[in-house]
Amino acid sequence: MRKNKKRRFVFSHVPLALKLVGCFLFLAISMFLLLNTYGIRTMNTVLFQKKEDLLYDACSHLADSLPGITPQNIENFSGQLTLAASLEGCRLWAASADGKIFFDSGSTKRNNYVIPDYEPDFLTKTAIDSTNIGGLISYHACAAIYPLTSHFETTGYLIAFLPVRHIREESVAYIDIFNLCFLFYCLFLFLIFLVIYFITVLPLKKNIRAVQSYSSGKYDVTLRLSTRDEYEELAASTAFLAGELKNLEDYQKKFIANISHDLRSPLTSIKGYAEAMADGTIPPELYEKYLHIIVYETTRLVKLSQSLLALNSYENHGAMLEISVFDINSSIRQMALSFEGTGKQKGIQIHLVFEEPSLFVSADMEKIEQVLYNLLDNAIKFSYENKSIHISTKTKGYKAIISVKDYGIGIPKESLQKVFDRFYKTDSSRGKDKKGTGLGLSITKDIITAHKEHISVVSTPGAGTEFTFSLPIAPRNKDD
Ligand code: ATP
Ligand code: MG
Repeated sequence: MRKNKKRRFVFSHVPLALKLVGCFLFLAISMFLLLNTYGIRTMNTVLFQKKEDLLYDACSHLADSLPGITPQNIENFSGQLTLAASLEGCRLWAASADGKIFFDSGSTKRNNYVIPDYEPDFLTKTAIDSTNIGGLISYHACAAIYPLTSHFETTGYLIAFLPVRHIREESVAYIDIFNLCFLFYCLFLFLIFLVIYFITVLPLKKNIRAVQSYSSGKYDVTLRLSTRDEYEELAASTAFLAGELKNLEDYQKKFIANISHDLRSPLTSIKGYAEAMADGTIPPELYEKYLHIIVYETTRLVKLSQSLLALNSYENHGAMLEISVFDINSSIRQMALSFEGTGKQKGIQIHLVFEEPSLFVSADMEKIEQVLYNLLDNAIKFSYENKSIHISTKTKGYKAIISVKDYGIGIPKESLQKVFDRFYKTDSSRGKDKKGTGLGLSITKDIITAHKEHISVVSTPGAGTEFTFSLPIAPRNKDD
């Protein structure tokens, strides 16, 4: 046999709250790492580029505003060059076309110093990201070079540079600001996760706790949620389910109590009379009387077990009807005939009032005959003596309407809706009709409901009762 093993998500067993915290930490840490690796690198590149541009602009501005700088007249310009270097925050060199430094804003010692190895390559560049200028400086710098010209000839170069370290420090300072912002963002994110926790996980937990209470039989636990979303719907459905479960449990208890009672009373009398006959308490001449009682009680037990079996089968196979087309009027005639004897004993006459001689319906004939039996049985049982019973059929749209009306004890208003419940008997019938199980109408309703039709009752205590139910008219009748 193939095993139906469900694949599960790796973290499927982890509680929702932990999953949320995990998501939050993952987001926070990954963002932090991204910011401090790729972010810092990108920031460095951008800052280098920006600094190079700034230095180059500064050099070009100086070269344009101070034309004709040469080693010979440098004394005239050194003040302005030093000031410009300190304003830009960089170090400024002026070199002759052959690579000799004749001005250094950072030191006076480097006059006529030749830039090693870089000549002419170094000076022809406009910018360099990181250089120690052939070992001339002890740190790595970001440099910009601008040619000094006179009469369309290059007479020298202005070289501006600043330590790479400064740029890196600046980018770290920027990233620190971003990190600080990110920290606030994380706090904000944490608040959002908290809100998500409160609006999703918490109500779910409440729901679970309530379901656990219901499953352990504590139906009085109320589930209160302050949300108006799907969780409220879930809570309402859970509460509804709990209510249904409680009703079912109550019903089951009542059902078992009723069955036990209905089984115990006939069994007790059967046992009592049989024992009394066996030990001689009842003399043989009275045997017939008590044997009749035993037969009567046994018949009740058989009826009860049959009714229970019928109910059970409707519950399990409610929809399994054997639908056929038959004449309901003919079934009623047949049923009336079989009840004629019982009716006569009470002086009751059964009148049939049909709109048409035949009325064909689509239904399960056997089960509908059971309905007619139950209704007629009740009508005769609860009718006053020497009265009549009316069974009528008529059509209304695509429906056949069948009613059974008696002139009997009637049903009190408060019992009208309960007569279809299992084992329900009104107080008056409880006294009069001991044989009844209280299951007849419940079976009747189940059958009609299985046909997706309706049954209703109208009754006036002391005057009579009328049960009315509908059935679908067979297509044959509809064509008529
Ligand atoms: P069973 O049908 O098993 O013999 P029953 O007749 O007592 O028992 P139901 O047919 O389910 O049970 O009826 C339930 C109760 O409804 C009856 O006990 C009776 O109190 C009331 N009832 C039903 N039909 C009528 C009626 N025609 N007139 C007055 N009361 C009725
Ligand atoms: Mg009955």
